[in-house]
Amino acid sequence: MPATRASTSDSGAPPAGAPGRPRPGWEGGFEALLRQDPELAGIVAGEARRQADALQLIAAENFTSPAVLAALGSPLANKYAEGYPGARHHGGCELVDLAERIAVDRAKALFGAEHANVQPHSGSSAVLAAYAALLCPGDTVLAMALPQGGHLTHGSPANFSGRWFDFVGYGVRRDTGLIDYAQVRALAREHRPKAVVCGSVSYPRHPDYAAFRDIADEVGAYLVADAAHPIGLIAGGAAPSPVPYADVVCATTHKVLRGPRGGLLLCRADLAGRIDRAVFPFTQGGGQMHTVAAKAVAFGEAAGPAFTAYAHQVVANARTLAAALAAEGLTVTTGGTDTHMMTLDVSGLALDAVTARGRLAACGVVLDTCGLPHGAPGLRLGAAAVTTQGMREPEMARIAVLMGAALRGEGPGGAGAGETRGTRGIRSAVAELVAAFPPYRPYPDHI
Ligand SMILES: *Cc1c(COP(=O)(O)O)cnc(C)c1O
Repeated sequence: MPATRASTSDSGAPPAGAPGRPRPGWEGGFEALLRQDPELAGIVAGEARRQADALQLIAAENFTSPAVLAALGSPLANKYAEGYPGARHHGGCELVDLAERIAVDRAKALFGAEHANVQPHSGSSAVLAAYAALLCPGDTVLAMALPQGGHLTHGSPANFSGRWFDFVGYGVRRDTGLIDYAQVRALAREHRPKAVVCGSVSYPRHPDYAAFRDIADEVGAYLVADAAHPIGLIAGGAAPSPVPYADVVCATTHKVLRGPRGGLLLCRADLAGRIDRAVFPFTQGGGQMHTVAAKAVAFGEAAGPAFTAYAHQVVANARTLAAALAAEGLTVTTGGTDTHMMTLDVSGLALDAVTARGRLAACGVVLDTCGLPHGAPGLRLGAAAVTTQGMREPEMARIAVLMGAALRGEGPGGAGAGETRGTRGIRSAVAELVAAFPPYRPYPDHI
């Protein structure tokens, strides 16, 4: 698509938005963007096509619904709403107050929580607010060490968490890959943390929330569950919930939960005031009310039977994919998965992780590299997005075969420059597979 100057107008009429010109409608969505700014419309359409044309196996991604996208692309984006429903610093908040109340009530009902804050702009913002509510700078926090699967907000020196708090890291057992609860307890006794954090970016099993609660209680620490990844499985009843155990649960709304990009906090009623003040005014300004409304839509979707079926299918698909990848000669960390996610050691194929990710990308298979607890970096992938597309166990088996061939550089087809022998054939097999499961109705060809 050729680059075109934005905001050109036809026939010398005043440009959109100029005095005397009828105000444009907003319901047109993409059509309006296409008319006004073909350059950016081309990027949006191209990205939609990229998402549809490849296998999206990034564990943190998903395809949110058209209803969620409609709320995001609505005039709620115009509204300033500092504060909370009924106590705003701005006028005209009656309707966004309703949207936020619905989001809060739906989140509380969905997760059985006494209190919910739906304003965090991201998962990291939710974790920052949780720490702000419970801790003071310099406090000791016990969390999963970053090389073992901790998130940046769990004590990275490049993140506020590592700069402002004194993090101690626990890990997983070398023999099983499972969290070493004896080590967690010993470190808690030794360092007397003010908070214990459970949750990870790559741990494919369920944390033992009761064990973490017990350890936190023994040393008088708060328990913070960072359930950014599994919260969607929890919503669908396909994973155990930290809500009965943790003082505060932090989450994202855009991973398995399939809502808009954003964060969420859940807590007991006695911590509600501290959590709310930690979000606003301590760490954030005005809420993003279009996102808050989109979160309400997503929570509404997650309360229905179709979402429960999806969440269980995500786990079934991930298990099938993990077993089939093991059959392809890949080493699956912990021997499999209980969640949507798995990590793979590719060193058995004499590959490093970056080369492996590149070979897969060349075949239209998109996933992440990640650190593995003991050894060289590996690959991380998840089954949420492909499950949203409607794929089931037979497609998981097919994906594993295609991935195995891509990683080994096998398969039909000739090789172009920089391609392994089978890249072209595998890429067209991937294209055929994803074409049968479009995430959205495709844009018309002329776009
Ligand atoms: C994804 C994730 C986050 C952060 O989410 P962002 O929205 O990217 O800020 C925090 N903690 C864990 C464990 C995560 O997986």
